[in-house]
Amino acid sequence: MFDTATGRMVPVGAIVIEGEKITAVVPAGEEFVPPAGAQVLAAEGKYLIPGLIDGHVHLVHVLNSLQITADELMPLFLANGITTLRDVGDEIVAQKLLAKYAEAHPSTAPRVILGSLLIDSNPPYHQFISWPLTDPAKVPTFVADMSTWGVQTFKIYVGTGRPVAQAVIREAHQRGKWVTAHLAWNYRAQDAVEDGIDSLEHIDSIYSFMLPPETPRWPPPAERAGMKAKELADLQRQILEIRARVDFDQPAPLALVDALVRKKVAVNPTLVVYRNWMLLRDLPAVHEHPDLQKIPARLREGWRRTAAANPLDPTTQELRRQQFKLLEALTARLYHAEVELLVGTDTPVQFCPPGFALHQEMELLVESGLPPAAVLIAATRNNARAINQTAELGSIAVGKRADLVLLAADPLADIRNTRKIDRVVHGGQVCDPAVLLSLVPTQ
Ligand SMILES: [Zn+2]
Repeated sequence: MFDTATGRMVPVGAIVIEGEKITAVVPAGEEFVPPAGAQVLAAEGKYLIPGLIDGHVHLVHVLNSLQITADELMPLFLANGITTLRDVGDEIVAQKLLAKYAEAHPSTAPRVILGSLLIDSNPPYHQFISWPLTDPAKVPTFVADMSTWGVQTFKIYVGTGRPVAQAVIREAHQRGKWVTAHLAWNYRAQDAVEDGIDSLEHIDSIYSFMLPPETPRWPPPAERAGMKAKELADLQRQILEIRARVDFDQPAPLALVDALVRKKVAVNPTLVVYRNWMLLRDLPAVHEHPDLQKIPARLREGWRRTAAANPLDPTTQELRRQQFKLLEALTARLYHAEVELLVGTDTPVQFCPPGFALHQEMELLVESGLPPAAVLIAATRNNARAINQTAELGSIAVGKRADLVLLAADPLADIRNTRKIDRVVHGGQVCDPAVLLSLVPTQ
């Protein structure tokens, strides 16, 4: 089994599960007789890892717009070894209903840890899943209300100003909650880190604040609406050219990495959404990825329609590739600087298929230069910390929830082996991934 404390595979004789919990880990070589009536799952020669956690999902808004239901979606996660989801921004009532659905269907659905609506300015960037907050005095009521719903993660979004953000961090921390952010315009990463934020979502929430000061600013939607297409395209290319050659050894980028380390801020790179949607969706390897054949057709076709309506300029593809390489390089730098990394996907944003996208993200983290063991630790132990569940989740140990993935091959030899799933155990229930996938209509 994989030991998240050392990053090593250790031989083990048996794992005993009673109800939802692990009650014994029997060392290799020790005599062990299964209790009478126990269901025995033979695992000789196989590799056991803790249940994976997708640390960045939005379960509600895309599913609403494409009319996908929980029974079509949730088995995809569990079939991929994902036993817990960290929602980071969604409409709260539907999210709560999904969480209740998941609780009632543990053999087909992973556990859902709730996130707040996106905290944003007015008007917000995403109309239906945001809560506009411009007055810090209104923050305590919002944080209290979200806490009543059972929210664990508070998410500051692109338009939030610093006074509101500071109030959110203060109020949420008083309630033992985690505060994260996707930053772009009004709140600098440097400020968020100094203000005590717990994590930053998306590598771009850091990268954007490492650009040289002469970089033109990409205007918010309201300003873009008043600009001509040619003017916007020229501006976009100009920004891309600067973004494709950022020097991380300049004082400002170095200082930001140091601050992330000093203030112990975790970073969730979500490289997969940059490759699959924002930067390189025009690569056939992305939009024709075999994983896309295993998801509901409405989801796949909906994504293709959105992509067709938002074509990328083929003449900028090389610049976009270079930028993606830099996002990977920055991720590796953060890892080597000992910034704690989380693993998330932004599914179901376009071309990030539920469940499968986490394996793609882990593959991209290894491609960036992380060792497979570090990636597995991030997707289990680190992600469990980000949802305040270290006592329950994130490692294989007595007293923890029996969330386990049994693999047919060693993931430390090749991270792609996390796809070779023999069985998934979710809260003690043994699930067959082939059966779970067969529940999802793909045509
Ligand atoms: Zn997101």
